[in-house]
Amino acid sequence: MDNQALQQWVERVSLESFGRPFLHKAIFNGRLKATGGRYFTRTHHIEISPHQLAAFGVEETEKIIKHELCHYHLHLMKRGYRHRDADFKTLLAHVGGSRYCNSLPERSEKKAIPYKYKLICVHCGMEYLRKRKVDPARYACGKCRGKLKLFLLDKHDGP
Ligand SMILES: [Zn+2]
Ligand SMILES: [Zn+2]
Repeated sequence: MDNQALQQWVERVSLESFGRPFLHKAIFNGRLKATGGRYFTRTHHIEISPHQLAAFGVEETEKIIKHELCHYHLHLMKRGYRHRDADFKTLLAHVGGSRYCNSLPERSEKKAIPYKYKLICVHCGMEYLRKRKVDPARYACGKCRGKLKLFLLDKHDGP
């Protein structure tokens, strides 16, 4: 598949799933390895990883395209286009896009940083895993706002 075929694919998905045209550029970027796709707020272009297509196939890649198109359309409509925005979550669920830009297996293994620390809420016992050392005094439990204590994980105590 080449860039022209990708462009047509994105345009088709845009019309079929969003009822709106995709008026910018979609291209393959072979340097995209950690994520399956990317949306550029400055140029409105979408990049898709060809490794994504090779590793996960057409169906999964179409979900990535839908994910990027959610960023695209919401951004152009001046609505919440970020992952954490309600608009984004709603639209993504509606069109059936992938929740994350899939990370590719070979790279994500290499890049994965193991969890080294654990924050435990002294009040409710909730645990939070952390990759880097944090100052527990600066955070509160997300569940009960209780105080947190930091522990160093030993090697076998991972998730
Ligand atoms: Zn995204
Ligand atoms: Zn708590």
